[in-house]
Order: sequence, then C-alpha cells, then structure tokens
Amino acid sequence: MDSLPRRIEKIIEPQPVVEGAGVRLKRSIGTRRLDYLDPFLLLDHFASTNPDDYKAGFPLHPHRGIETVTYVLAGTVHHKDTLGNAGSIGAGDIQWMTAGRGIMHEEMPQVRPEGIAGFQLWVNLPAKLKMTKPRYQEIRSNEIPEIKRADGAKIRVVTGTVDGINGPVSGIAADPTYLDVFVPPHASFTQPINRRHTVFAYVFDGEARFAENGTVTSPPRLVVWDGGDHVNVTTAESSVRFLLVSGKPLNEPIARYGPFVMNTREEIERTLRELREGTFG
Ligand code: MN
Repeated sequence: MDSLPRRIEKIIEPQPVVEGAGVRLKRSIGTRRLDYLDPFLLLDHFASTNPDDYKAGFPLHPHRGIETVTYVLAGTVHHKDTLGNAGSIGAGDIQWMTAGRGIMHEEMPQVRPEGIAGFQLWVNLPAKLKMTKPRYQEIRSNEIPEIKRADGAKIRVVTGTVDGINGPVSGIAADPTYLDVFVPPHASFTQPINRRHTVFAYVFDGEARFAENGTVTSPPRLVVWDGGDHVNVTTAESSVRFLLVSGKPLNEPIARYGPFVMNTREEIERTLRELREGTFG
C-alpha cells in the first residue's frame, strides 16, 4: 500500500502568557484555542535575552499524572525537587520527567548573557500510570544523536527513530517521537509517523511548507497534521528549524487542574487534599 502523506489540519499562532512567578512565554497547546492535542497537554516556548522576562522562574510547585519535557536551546535552567534530585539543564540538553504520583520541584532559568531559550511540553499519562513512581531521564546534549544527511538536513533524535537511529529517551507510555529538525534551503524532509498517532511541528526559525496543501509557514507557529503515514516538509529560499513531536492518543477522560492532570474530579480533589494535609508526593 502507498504511504499516505498527512495534510495540514490547523496552524496555530502561539499566545503570550505569563507563568510561574512571572515568566513570559508563548503557549500553543493548553490554550482556549487548542486545549488538548491528545496526548499533549501543553507546549510552552520561552525565548528572551531580557532577564525580566524569565529570572523569576518557576518556584516550588507540584505535578501529578503527567510528564514534563524541558528542552533547552540556550542558557541554563536549574532544577531541584523535594525527593533530593537536583541539577541543571543547559543548551542542547533535555529533561524528560515522569511526574507520576507526584513531584514537587522548582525550575529556575539562570540569568546569563545568552538569555534563555527552549521549550516545555506536557505529555499525558494513561490512567494506569498516573500514580507511577516519578522518573527522570536527563540527557546531555552530547548524548543526543545528530543525523547529518547528504542534503544538509540535521536531525537531533531525542526519542523515536530516524534513519535507523534511536533517540536515548525510552520507556515512555505515549511511544513518542521528539526531534529537533533543521532543513537547509531547497531541500525536503520526510518522517514516517504511526498512522494512529497525533503529530505536530513547532516552527521556531526560518520557514517551510509543511504539506502539499499548506502555505509557507513562518515562526512561531504550531502546525498540526491530520491522518496519514508520513509528514513532508519542503523549503525554498530559506532554511527551517522546528520540533517534530508525535505520540499515541490516550482517548481517556481528563480532569485538569493546573499542574495536575487526572481522569476524574475526585482524583483532583484527593490530590488537593493531600497537598493541604502535607501527604503529597
Ligand atoms: Mn514543573
């Protein structure tokens, strides 16, 4: 059977939001426009060289029922949790944190001449794993394989498979693909995607056409494809850089309250009660 190219379903302009203790972000998933892109709950893009936009950071806060994925392009984020884990995520590094039954942590961008740039993605956990043990996969930049193709395309593989190369993040329920893709001018990039999976691109540099039915898309934009077997991105005079992310939809009810995402209101109320009583996490 022929491989069916996916077409553009929608293209979304990120919205400015202020999050944490006063961090300016661009949010493209987790907004009124796009509440949920199953299994993805939130996508934030941070990029600033003005310390006032980011230095307040994200002081101590909880998570339950989800995974948070922090990918840094520039600058450094310090993190620390109440289980005793601590570290820093620098340029090119990724932290895939499975919060599971509960984590209480802080995430603090450091004031640096290069400022801060990167992304945070929230991936939902299926009902059976919402109360799983917390897990970190912290991957240094030099541990992320970068594929260099003959046409000049460069693909960093965080998780998933490209040209037979697997990314280092593993054992994730959503069976995700997470790629950082650069395509030079006058080139094209094709990636097979499981037919049942959701897939999006987040375009943050340059411009490209993300499907035959698509117009030329300039950053910052979230591109959501519809069903099919592969996605195809084509450049003209400009290069392009984007995140390409896919995952298996859960098709489960969601009850969402800030940093907690469960299946029912009762589970959210139980979580809030644990927080009040000091038994959370
Ligand atoms: Mn957090």
